Amino acid sequence: MEVVRRLPQKFPFSAIVGQETLKLSLLLNAVDPRVGGVLIRGEKGTAKSTAVRALLAVLPQMDVVEGCQYGCDPGDPAQWCDDCRDRRDEGPLPKIRAVPRMVDLPVSATEDRLVGTLDFQAAIREGERSFHPGLLAAANRGILYVDEVNLLDDHLVDTLLDAAAMGVNVVEREGVSLAHPARFILVGTMNPEEGDIRPQLLDRFGLCVGVEAMREPEARVEIVLRRHAFEEDPSAFARQWADAEDELKNRIRDARLRLPGVRLGEGILYAIADLSIRAAVDGHRADSVMARAAAALAALENRPEATLSDVERVAPLVLAHRLRRTPFSEVRSDTDTLRTALMDALSSGAGRSQEQEGSTAAGPGLGQASIFESLGSASSSSEDPADVCINVESDLDRTRRSIAGRRQTSVSDDGRGRYSRSEVPKGDVTMADVAFDATIRAAASRASDSKTLGDMALSVQPEDLRTKVRTRKVGASIVFCVDASGSMGSDKRIDAAKAAVLDLLVDAYQKRDRVALVSFRGNKAEVVLAPTASVELANVRLRNLPTGGATPLAAGIVSSLDILQSELRRQPDTVAWLVLVTDGRGNVGLDGGSGSEDARIAATRVRMANVHTIVIDTASGPTGGTAAREIARMAGGEYVRLSALDGAELGRVVRSRI
Ligand SMILES: [Zn+2]
Repeated sequence: MEVVRRLPQKFPFSAIVGQETLKLSLLLNAVDPRVGGVLIRGEKGTAKSTAVRALLAVLPQMDVVEGCQYGCDPGDPAQWCDDCRDRRDEGPLPKIRAVPRMVDLPVSATEDRLVGTLDFQAAIREGERSFHPGLLAAANRGILYVDEVNLLDDHLVDTLLDAAAMGVNVVEREGVSLAHPARFILVGTMNPEEGDIRPQLLDRFGLCVGVEAMREPEARVEIVLRRHAFEEDPSAFARQWADAEDELKNRIRDARLRLPGVRLGEGILYAIADLSIRAAVDGHRADSVMARAAAALAALENRPEATLSDVERVAPLVLAHRLRRTPFSEVRSDTDTLRTALMDALSSGAGRSQEQEGSTAAGPGLGQASIFESLGSASSSSEDPADVCINVESDLDRTRRSIAGRRQTSVSDDGRGRYSRSEVPKGDVTMADVAFDATIRAAASRASDSKTLGDMALSVQPEDLRTKVRTRKVGASIVFCVDASGSMGSDKRIDAAKAAVLDLLVDAYQKRDRVALVSFRGNKAEVVLAPTASVELANVRLRNLPTGGATPLAAGIVSSLDILQSELRRQPDTVAWLVLVTDGRGNVGLDGGSGSEDARIAATRVRMANVHTIVIDTASGPTGGTAAREIARMAGGEYVRLSALDGAELGRVVRSRI
């Protein structure tokens, strides 16, 4: 009987339809991991993880030092681990062929698992200090893949990006002190709807691409056909693409060999500097990434020198997520900024490089049209230039949104949350707080120093005690403040708000969110639903909501603000959100004051109270917009017009922001 054990066949990289920007970003990193990785932003069901897994299959085989637990490159002594350096004196190191690995970093990983740790079994048994390598070691010379990187604890992301940038993992803890090579292709994916990544961390990914579903019918049909052929017979499909895959593998291998010789002229470097200055990016990282990416692109296309056209093609991948944004800045289109900067810098850079290096450096495709194309291609579907990975708002009816209010993790001191690292205790310690693994390692790290062990390899002393640091996601408190007055469309507004509240409550408990609803009509505001995480309760409270009467907008805002301030007192790290569903035209003031004036004053108070505001404008027709926009501006918030005033759309808008 024949037993065939097939490895699961991966979908070939060459067979992926479209997504050219995504593929280019991955290939540039395959040629030179120092480009700094790729952050792939896109909704579920796009080719994100398929493409990353497929990339692994086209990475060339490599020589590794036999017996080295980090897979050092025999041909690159400068990058060797301590172990390989020590063995050097014994003669040439034995080498073997190996295929690169892909390491999945789970969102639940601890710091120990990532960076490696003292091997405490060895410490207990033999009293020896030895290092147990972590995932950074396993990923050396391969791919480190983090799905949903936005959900990873911040300090882990920091550690990860440090190692990626340096190509080295430095371990200084628990009596272990070593450094080992950790040069890997870092790929993070995230669904922006699930919460964003901090701007400081965003900047540390070399490249960033936005991926969305293809819109061209032909491409969609092709995707389905290839997917079916693959599922029908994976091996036959792989054979069909084998030549293309081999060719790509050779291209990457040759490009890596060619890369050190690729010339980066001074004109190119000036054009890059100019571009970064005009795009007003912070720091110098963008320049360095752009230079490396341009060189990698030239190497990939078998050219001896990086040209302005290379810069033009990589610039959107490097710059789009680095444009400086301020929370309350004037309406300004990032796309326009980038576009203008590209045109100016490339034209002046082209001039300079032509003067200094002759016309060869200028390369083809420097016309305005190609610049627009390359900007558009930051989004892989090439559909909408505005949809680069920073979600540039193309709709002029929206003011820039604040990025400071995003859901974050915080250190938890109430015993809840996930054990993410350990520390020396800061006070009384309960059993539940003891981090046994770290405590034993601390004891083990002293083991060989100790003279008092007797027969035991390990003795735990009070100073070895370590406690758990727990982190958890911070919840949001969201108050919907809805105009229920007799003005046009009030039933629609109320229905949309009700549906959005229920939608947000579906997973509110898990996210630690609380949602409330305030309605205002006649001469007062009413707290219809106090902050809650319960769908059942909301269902009961929201059943019958009366509408009609005048519009006491100011009272609605003040009442909502009271709720949010008491939420902030209850849980100071809560992120407070006010969702104001109104046309902005209040006609009843507080205590008989002017309606519109009181509403603006109330909005200013919201701004001072560290509350994030979204104003959903329900005014219709050409005259609509002014009043609600003014309220948004006074509150320092975002102004949004919905394409359709219904619960699904409203829920989506709010969800995508908190
Ligand atoms: Zn080594």
